[in-house]
Amino acid sequence: MSIYTLEIKTIRKALKLLAPSLSVRRGRGTGYSWIEISGSKEWGEFTDEEREALTKVGLRPGANFCVISPDDRRYWVETLAKKLGVEIPEELRDEYRRRDIEKARMERRLREIKERQESCQHEWVKMPYLVLFQEDKSVYKCLKCGKEEIR
Ligand SMILES: [Zn+2]
Repeated sequence: MSIYTLEIKTIRKALKLLAPSLSVRRGRGTGYSWIEISGSKEWGEFTDEEREALTKVGLRPGANFCVISPDDRRYWVETLAKKLGVEIPEELRDEYRRRDIEKARMERRLREIKERQESCQHEWVKMPYLVLFQEDKSVYKCLKCGKEEIR
């Protein structure tokens, strides 16, 4: 099962505890990878109870529409799971943990590169690139730390 599907399932489970008549679906067309929440009235309009339920957990329902963007999916999975006591599937937790580890690794790597560049006794070579819109300038690259400069 994809991460997206697991996220939708978790959010659906949580929101159904709040208001069983809400529907939680994957977005279609250009909304793909979004999560759409709609109400039980005509055209997906929310009843007062549904609207209240969504507002209570911090979502902001429009007239007949409430969406969660791809970037916010994790936030809402974790927030709703915590607020409503729903368990996050293990596969999803593993994925989030994996992303956190990867992010920390990337940050550490960037920090290391920055530190190396700051303490480097640079050895510049002129690169054979043209600098767009600055034809009198060149790209220089340090042979030791890889830092590039335009001057
Ligand atoms: Zn250097």
